[in-house]
Amino acid sequence: MTLTSIALKERLRNLRKNRLLHPLAFFVKKYIYNTYVKSRTAATNFPPEVWIENTNCCNAECVMCPREKQTRPLGIMELSLFEKLIKEISKFKGDVRRVHLHNYGEPLLDKEFPIRIRLAKDWGIEHVYFVTNASLLTPELSREIIVAGLDEFKISFYGTDKKTYNDTMNGLDYDKTIKNVKAFFEIRKDMKSLKPMVVIQYIPQTKNQSRIDAFLNLFNDVIDKNIGDSLNICSLHNYADGRYYVKNGSNKISTICRFPWATMVILQDGNVVICCLDYNGVQVVGDVNENTIKEIWNSEQYKKIRSDFKGLRYSDYPVCTKCNVIH
Ligand code: SF4
Ligand code: SF4
Repeated sequence: MTLTSIALKERLRNLRKNRLLHPLAFFVKKYIYNTYVKSRTAATNFPPEVWIENTNCCNAECVMCPREKQTRPLGIMELSLFEKLIKEISKFKGDVRRVHLHNYGEPLLDKEFPIRIRLAKDWGIEHVYFVTNASLLTPELSREIIVAGLDEFKISFYGTDKKTYNDTMNGLDYDKTIKNVKAFFEIRKDMKSLKPMVVIQYIPQTKNQSRIDAFLNLFNDVIDKNIGDSLNICSLHNYADGRYYVKNGSNKISTICRFPWATMVILQDGNVVICCLDYNGVQVVGDVNENTIKEIWNSEQYKKIRSDFKGLRYSDYPVCTKCNVIH
């Protein structure tokens, strides 16, 4: 991401805070954005993107993440179930843009994680990706995920020094994580590997004092843009009912959420939910222990969700009604 695009994003973010512009935003979302979404809602045989949550455990308690509200059981997905999913996805390689090996947790807590990457690559999955806080990304693990053939990963790094990082990513240690991150780039270089690409992401908010420039300076010389590495600045969202960072611009629902056409999210126990913001697994659409991904994606239940979302009828979806994405 260039400095100009980061500045532009920041301006848009500030514009959104202006209450006088809310009616305009409502109009744009309801009549222009929704027309765009409708043009991209052709039926697909198989999800274009599949997220497989290897674990919903995490070793951090980031201030923006409602970990303390998670009541579903913690666990790690059985390797046999994971392999079954990968085998099915491999039959639809042409339809699947990307497979995420994570959802609501820290994937590197799973000791079998490099094995999962290797399995996905051996079964021919084109783009294998995950998101991590990198606190457990030891040099050994860095080598293992490179050798396993990972294509890309994102590092969530929400501070710019010891204090702002430790205040935001509670439970983690700035010195340890930054050492891991820098070591990863050295190791990839030493191994002369062009993969995986890395995105390092920052979310400005009060606890980390919103130091975008300091974040860019911290990592600009660490990443390798020739390989495709980048820095990303992201905005806060509410995690549906998890946090209250963003005021729903208008109380009226205005937006068609694209998740049911774009992505399938499979939780560590096999339940399928509509999106990654459903941290408690409330809006369950199926169970991959019982049915295939394809059967669930083409089920009557999924069809009803698409039809309801298209008509802005969200009343049957308690997580969605609280979500700032559609307001
Ligand atoms: S944001 Fe990620 S690293 Fe932080 S607590 Fe949530 S799942 Fe864990
Ligand atoms: S409206 Fe929000 S909670 Fe509902 S599916 Fe979309 S992103 Fe998820």
